Amino acid sequence: MEPLTGLLTSLVFAAAATAQPACGADVLGTSRTLTLRREAAAWGTAQHAALPTLAPKEVVLTFDDGPRPGSTPVVLKALAEQCVKASFFMNGEPLAQHAALARQVRDEGHSVGMHGYRHEHFSQLPPAAQTADLDAMMAAYRAVFGAEPAAFRFPFLEETSTLLASLKERGLVVMSIDAGAEDWLPDQTPQMLADKLLGQLAKSGGGIVLLHDAQDQTARALPFLLRALKSNGYRVVHVNWN
Ligand SMILES: [Zn+2]
Repeated sequence: MEPLTGLLTSLVFAAAATAQPACGADVLGTSRTLTLRREAAAWGTAQHAALPTLAPKEVVLTFDDGPRPGSTPVVLKALAEQCVKASFFMNGEPLAQHAALARQVRDEGHSVGMHGYRHEHFSQLPPAAQTADLDAMMAAYRAVFGAEPAAFRFPFLEETSTLLASLKERGLVVMSIDAGAEDWLPDQTPQMLADKLLGQLAKSGGGIVLLHDAQDQTARALPFLLRALKSNGYRVVHVNWN
């Protein structure tokens, strides 16, 4: 074999190894996929019913407020290294601004839902402005992904009767949460985030976990958080919508 060909072959193998890490027993992995019907339903015990069929210690990882170039790729890398699939609830403004990054999230096998065009406090907006924000969010989603959106998470989990009715009319799934790490609070170490997350999960028993891919500290802490989930016996369920 020519030395150059040998070198190229090693490079190709090295690239393949980087792109697709082995999902062995030493990583957290994704234990199963839960496909929800695309229908007017609302999940997450912070506000609604628990996701159907979730067993104790099963968690669904969700990331809000992206895509953000500084931190979302760091989150994607940590998820890929642990063979974990997650759901991302994106805001319309960064989605339109960073369309390629948004499509990268989807192309790496994660689910994408909506999180409001401008991350508004909907309870402080008149009804027409609330539905206008949802219209803009849905238009941005369609423009970037060329597909119909299926799911929505309220910014600040702040639900309004106007938007709940509008989401129901459109057959969109509302995704609330069961646990989180309050990772929007500043200056938290990976250990602090892990302690908070494991504490909340101990109470909820598992379920939908809220994190933020737009937060640098969350992105940096994610490898530690994923290892903490594995060592505490949690299993990841990937939720998507048909
Ligand atoms: Zn948010």
